[in-house]
Amino acid sequence: MNYANNIIETIGNTPLVKMNSIVDEIDALVLAKYETFNPGNSVKDRMALQMIEDAEADGRLKPGGTIIEGTSGNTGMGLALVAIVKGYKVICVLSDKQSKEKMDILRAVGCEVHVCPTDVAPDDPRSYYSTSARLAEETPNSWYVNQYDNPSNCKAHYQTTGPEIWEQTDGKVTHFVVGVGTGGTISGVGSYLKLQNPNVKVWGIDTYGSVFKKYHETGIFDENEIYSYVTEGIGEDILPKNVRFEVIDGFTKVTDKDAAVYTQKLAKEEGMFLGNSAGAAVKGLLQLKEHFKKDDVVVVLFHDHGSRYVGKMYNDDWMRKMGYLD
Ligand code: PMP
Repeated sequence: MNYANNIIETIGNTPLVKMNSIVDEIDALVLAKYETFNPGNSVKDRMALQMIEDAEADGRLKPGGTIIEGTSGNTGMGLALVAIVKGYKVICVLSDKQSKEKMDILRAVGCEVHVCPTDVAPDDPRSYYSTSARLAEETPNSWYVNQYDNPSNCKAHYQTTGPEIWEQTDGKVTHFVVGVGTGGTISGVGSYLKLQNPNVKVWGIDTYGSVFKKYHETGIFDENEIYSYVTEGIGEDILPKNVRFEVIDGFTKVTDKDAAVYTQKLAKEEGMFLGNSAGAAVKGLLQLKEHFKKDDVVVVLFHDHGSRYVGKMYNDDWMRKMGYLD
């Protein structure tokens, strides 16, 4: 018989899938690292498991404890699955711009969910950063995950996602393209690939309203770059420790409209029913096309599944309301 002993054992070893018509204008081979095959339907299962196991190992997380995190949803799902198997409780703190589906899904897997306003400064007591920190202080036997600065986030990708991409491409990968939020994925995969071959180029996808691109190019944390945006999962108004700018060769910014339109296109043209950051990643990849030559092997990572966006990017009424349909 061939079976996993629990859901945790099915995390990782996701497929690499060739992209076809949507990347027609690119000469290189473009391969998608398809992270929705994880049990929580996102790449975040990997780092949730690593963060919990590292916290258990050094005593930050104790038996029967409560795990608290400010999460946009996918990390919460990953934490919930691991917590169920290992016997912990999870409290998730979300910003109010996250889709209702994400909140419902978290409740479905037993999380307690707190919703906070988006348009307040990170140090405002109502912000989701401050609320999660306060809940962590108030809840006995709790552990505050902090995926932004927790080194186990990046480590999960250095130890699993990076090696998988290297092996699946027989070491032929030349470029890695990925959306950046906490930075765990780009930094972990990027440093692993560059250690194998320093010529691999690592590209980050950013949004308008986020600080990453400007900071990478100038070293200036420019508050004028910060404003609210629609794209989910990528971009930040802080500099998380998990973004290792030195492994990133460049950023490109994708508009909210393009990210939404390309999310729909991925489903309709490639049969890839994916989340909003996948649309941003594929549009960003097209924006970077002059960097890719014929024999290059470009790997783009898709973080999460389309089911979490049915009320938004996959709903034409919403798309029309936002002015995204011509
Ligand atoms: N896309 C989605 C849908 C996400 O949830 C996240 C995590 N915030 C990202 C992209 C960015 O990944 P990372 O945090 O590893 O930079």
